[in-house]
Amino acid sequence: MKKMRFVTDSLNYMSHDEIVQHQETKLLKQMKYVYNNSEFYREKFNENGVHPQEIRSIEDFRKLPIMMDKDQERKSQQESMERYGHPFGMHLSCSPDDVVLTATTSGTTGVPTFTYTLAQSDQDNISTAVAHMLEYGRITAGDRLLFNHALGVYATSAAIPGIRHAGVLPIDVDVRAGTSEILRYAQLTKPNAAMMTPSLAEHLIQKAPELIGKTVGELNLSALYTVGEIAIGIPEVKKKIEDAYGCRVYDWIAPTAGTVAFSCDSDDYHGMHCVTPDFDLYPYDLVDPDTKQALEIKDGVIGEAIYTSLDRKAVPMLRMASGDIVQVFTNECPGCGFKGYRVKVVGRSDDMLIVKGVNVYPSAIKKVINNFTPHVTGEMRIVLNDAPPRVTPPLVVKMEHGLNIDTNDLQNLEEKIKYALKHQVRMTPEIIWCAPGTLEKSMGKTPLFEKNYN
Ligand SMILES: [Zn+2]
Repeated sequence: MKKMRFVTDSLNYMSHDEIVQHQETKLLKQMKYVYNNSEFYREKFNENGVHPQEIRSIEDFRKLPIMMDKDQERKSQQESMERYGHPFGMHLSCSPDDVVLTATTSGTTGVPTFTYTLAQSDQDNISTAVAHMLEYGRITAGDRLLFNHALGVYATSAAIPGIRHAGVLPIDVDVRAGTSEILRYAQLTKPNAAMMTPSLAEHLIQKAPELIGKTVGELNLSALYTVGEIAIGIPEVKKKIEDAYGCRVYDWIAPTAGTVAFSCDSDDYHGMHCVTPDFDLYPYDLVDPDTKQALEIKDGVIGEAIYTSLDRKAVPMLRMASGDIVQVFTNECPGCGFKGYRVKVVGRSDDMLIVKGVNVYPSAIKKVINNFTPHVTGEMRIVLNDAPPRVTPPLVVKMEHGLNIDTNDLQNLEEKIKYALKHQVRMTPEIIWCAPGTLEKSMGKTPLFEKNYN
């Protein structure tokens, strides 16, 4: 199996302590840069009565309060629009003339934030990392990659220059063009690889025979890269997609476009490997999502990821609370032997529910339910009658039963699923059974909740 390596080659020859030292050197430089170039951060340091020069280590730095989150980012953008006529925020640390790409996340609530605003050197960093990821999956110069995310001002577009940087030709068919167009261009261009959400990858498995008279396996992809949802981390989903496409699927993320992590060649899933510890402190800084107190980083720890750029020119993040809940693994990857840190995405802090005082993540429920395939399809929705996070028990979960199940056996299956959830997620839901195919599947991110409140 191919061992994963850090993007910056020199890191591959450093010990863990040397990597941390290297991060510290870059952190001090980044702090000095933002202090000198952004009014927003200068005020933050001043409010806390600290000068960047007084911070000598990552440990010191992690004692600072949270400096940025989505709300502050929105306010900062509004202020820069009013004062300077640009949308990038008061935390923009370069001239707006130096911005070469700007993008927001799609599908999130509220006013979009231009977190993915890049100067050329920022774009170069992310492009090098994307090319590294493609190369790991043996996708190299001369290959073609079917790109099916929302194009334009959305975050995934920041990956396209990286695909070109690798010498790979993107065949970018916007996901909003629909399944038929995507499959049509797949046939016309014969790509070697593809990038899409796991929901779309699953949807195409079902739709391809009907729309083009072929299975997705007959597209002959040699690598599939998916982003945006917790899916490949569920063994049954990873196996289903890999079996159908006949190739490896790589689960990847590029949070804030400042760092890249992706899963390895192992049959078993060992999380996303953080190959750019010199671009962002992620995942070396985790906090308790409720108290925002720094957590000790040790193998298996779960917490909210705090982003801090180490090499960012346009919109550096310093101690940004992301709402992303991750589990960090510090030991060498049991699959490929990668020696850096790995992460498994647990969920979003805003997806978290509280049932009888227990914190429940929808992804944990989904994981348990998927163990029961093919008796269930794996599709589910959590029904919310009131605004989260507090749920008046029981938590109601709609789920599709499998195709060839005798409805008389449902009662028995329901008992088994409830038992598993009680022991693994510490709550017992009420289950509403649905026929297979009745819970709508999205081509973007499939929703976790059915919201029956205003
Ligand atoms: Zn690995």
